[in-house]
Amino acid sequence: MRRFRNVKIVATLGPASDDYEMIKALHEAGADVFRLNMSHGEHAEIRARHAIIRQVERDLGTTIGILADLQGPKLRVGTFARGEEELHEGATFRLDLENAEGTDKRVNLPHPEIFAALEPGTRLLINDGKIALRVDSCGPDFADCVVVNGGLISNRKGVNVPDVVLPLAALSEKDRNDLEFVCDLGIDWLALSFVQRPADVEEARKLAGDRAAILSKIEKPAAVHCFDDILAVSDGIMVARGDLGVELPVQNVPPIQKRLVRRCRAAAKPVIVATQMLESMIESPMPTRAEVSDVATAIYEGADAVMLSAESAAGDYPVEAVTTMDNVAREVEEDPTYREVIEASRRADRTTVADGIVAAAREIAETTDIKAICCFTHSGTTGLLIARERPRVPIIAMTPIRGTARRLALTWGVNCVITDELERFKQAVVNAAKAARAGGYATQDDQILVIAGVPFNVPGTTNILRVAPCNERLIFASDPE
Ligand code: PGA
Ligand code: MN
Repeated sequence: MRRFRNVKIVATLGPASDDYEMIKALHEAGADVFRLNMSHGEHAEIRARHAIIRQVERDLGTTIGILADLQGPKLRVGTFARGEEELHEGATFRLDLENAEGTDKRVNLPHPEIFAALEPGTRLLINDGKIALRVDSCGPDFADCVVVNGGLISNRKGVNVPDVVLPLAALSEKDRNDLEFVCDLGIDWLALSFVQRPADVEEARKLAGDRAAILSKIEKPAAVHCFDDILAVSDGIMVARGDLGVELPVQNVPPIQKRLVRRCRAAAKPVIVATQMLESMIESPMPTRAEVSDVATAIYEGADAVMLSAESAAGDYPVEAVTTMDNVAREVEEDPTYREVIEASRRADRTTVADGIVAAAREIAETTDIKAICCFTHSGTTGLLIARERPRVPIIAMTPIRGTARRLALTWGVNCVITDELERFKQAVVNAAKAARAGGYATQDDQILVIAGVPFNVPGTTNILRVAPCNERLIFASDPE
């Protein structure tokens, strides 16, 4: 499905968006990737949504990415005898391993390994950071805390411990179970929550193998500190601003977002900016001006994708939320300032032939009237490298591997076309010309660029850049061999 923008849209599915008509409408409105959130929903529901996405993909003859988001080691308190309690500033409150239901004096925190990591002075944040506790004294099975910010605490509220690297396994029992389940279903991206160190990513990759690309969600201060090492072992990144803004002061989030987006682009790995982008659209058909500005900012910064969470999963206006993002994206990308910003933040260091070829392709496309930059790719790497250049003309990635096309659904500007395996470069040129015409990017009279590596099927061989006509007769007449 042709989009008139480069940035991609990720829409989370949930109770508000789990039937065929809605998922189709969301894709048609602009959702390029659907997120299955493993924190909510039974396996049967996830399986049903997955099947519908693939059905829509078949029916529309399009490419849709599926991202499964594992819950990760999220800490939660137990339950309360009265369901909830009000905690008052200055009061004392105990967290422990007792099974008894909670009161206004104590509650169960069923994570023994956490108590060992606490020290007097450690902060604990509950319920999205609304309640803050400070550890006063603690032992192997309890922590006596002072309430720093009071508020309402209720059953199974989340607990964040921002100040320490927690001795938690990257994947809980539930995560391992979910990982097997979604990899079996067939997904394109696996997102890991609360990544703390590169080893967490490596552990998940061992389990997923080549069944999914791995996306690390950056939502812990520890992950921000070792971001470059996490990026090096990940295939993509999510700036998970929800938990990040609990674990760190909220005003730290925008500069971190800017830095992470730039690093990811330099590394040619897709980055999603996520959470609360159009929060008010959960209940309103109109976004706030600040939200529109937030979506626009992420796009100006060069993000590969912007994401909807509850807006599309549980809100009253899922399609309107996607349409809003699409409208904002089209407007931003037509703004000359956008091009200025994107070009000013392009990094010039090139170390490989492929780096040089994609940069040359972009320059040629800027110099003369070229309608598209086409590449032939197995792994998707060439598509990622062209996207890093953020060229002014459309990118068409041709691949015989459907999984590659689906993964690239998350990458800025890449339009994918599934082709047969090719043997000769001339075939790649003919296919590129056909794809460019069929997609409405070019006519018989236009020119395109074709990038490929010959021999095909050998990774890392990118070695040809061809300026080609879009007309088969001319291709054959002008081709040297
Ligand atoms: P979540 O992750 O929605 O799974 O919590 C995103 C975030 O924390 O921003
Ligand atoms: Mn989160």
